[in-house]
Amino acid sequence: MKKLLFTPGPLSTSRTVKEAMLEDMGSRDHAFVNAVKETRNELLKLAHVSQAEGYECVIVQGSGTFGVESVISSVVGKKDVLLILVNGAYGERIVKMASIHQLNHLVLRFDEDEIVTPGATADFLKDHPEITQVACIHSETTTGLFNPITEIGAVCKKHQKVFIVDAMSSFGGVSMDMKEMSIDFLVSSSNKCIEGVPGFAFAICKKTELEKAKGQARSLSLDLYEQWRGLETNGQFRFTPPTLSLMAFHQALKELEEEGGIEAREKRYQANKKNLDDGMAALGFKQYLRPEIQGHIITSFLYPTDRNFNFEEFYQKLNSRGFIIYPGKLSKADAFRIGNIGQIFPEDVINLVKAVKEVLEEEKIVEIA
Ligand SMILES: *Cc1c(COP(=O)(O)O)cnc(C)c1O
Repeated sequence: MKKLLFTPGPLSTSRTVKEAMLEDMGSRDHAFVNAVKETRNELLKLAHVSQAEGYECVIVQGSGTFGVESVISSVVGKKDVLLILVNGAYGERIVKMASIHQLNHLVLRFDEDEIVTPGATADFLKDHPEITQVACIHSETTTGLFNPITEIGAVCKKHQKVFIVDAMSSFGGVSMDMKEMSIDFLVSSSNKCIEGVPGFAFAICKKTELEKAKGQARSLSLDLYEQWRGLETNGQFRFTPPTLSLMAFHQALKELEEEGGIEAREKRYQANKKNLDDGMAALGFKQYLRPEIQGHIITSFLYPTDRNFNFEEFYQKLNSRGFIIYPGKLSKADAFRIGNIGQIFPEDVINLVKAVKEVLEEEKIVEIA
């Protein structure tokens, strides 16, 4: 049975994206080197920037976390101080990276069900003039909220701080203009909203800031500057690239364009989200976040209050019907998550909601909230 992934990644991908991986590809093959070059250029375009305007795209092997760690551990110098804005597990992950790499860092925490506020960020920056870089998550996949990156970016710009954004789960599914948002480093990966398969992360970087990372990396393989130099000098990766994952991604970018670009994809995801909200509300489900701060990438639903509810069984029964949902990751509430991204369409969401209804009936779950 074909299973559909309603998760934050890896996601359901098109058959043609998977087919792009059917031919073996040498890492020095002209077709491959060319695909990498086109991919790097296309990613700049999707962020509304170009090399001519002083931006560079660096691809890093590994999952999304490798990309974030590459940026964090290369960009923050010995005497620098990184401020990490945290309101979920992915923000906490950056804190962990900073401590492992022994970077000077400060953390400003917000509740998981609240956004990072530009005002509190500005006050904190005023109190700590030693801060040089600020890191923030755009779509906090822990809950599904969108942090106000444009406003936080404006605060960073005003205080002349380098702004690093983990836009992992949103880039490609939300229109983002890096300059308008004052972002210096934007990180995402192959298996999120561009709808490729896992294999690599990418960072879109302001060149003048990327150049400052020379000689600062804390590891060989995650050296963002050297990775960029490698790609620029001969179009090659320093170490084995995920060749087939890159070929799939190259195809995924074509399909994104055919769909009508990021704007059209954003509309499809929003339509998915609308069907999910309406359908789950009709079944009585309550969401964790208030709607004003909820994004259209992934939604946290509170567990039904009925004693008959057991997440494992609920998950398995949906799985056997071809629908894969995602467990929760909240620190203060029991919830499960449903994503709207990947090759899933509004009618798929309607079918998912129908399956949820069937499972509730089968499991005699009556009290929802
Ligand atoms: C998916 C995701 C990551 C990266 O996770 P990996 O498992 O390393 O791919 C990082 N940040 C956010 C917000 C994410 O959603």
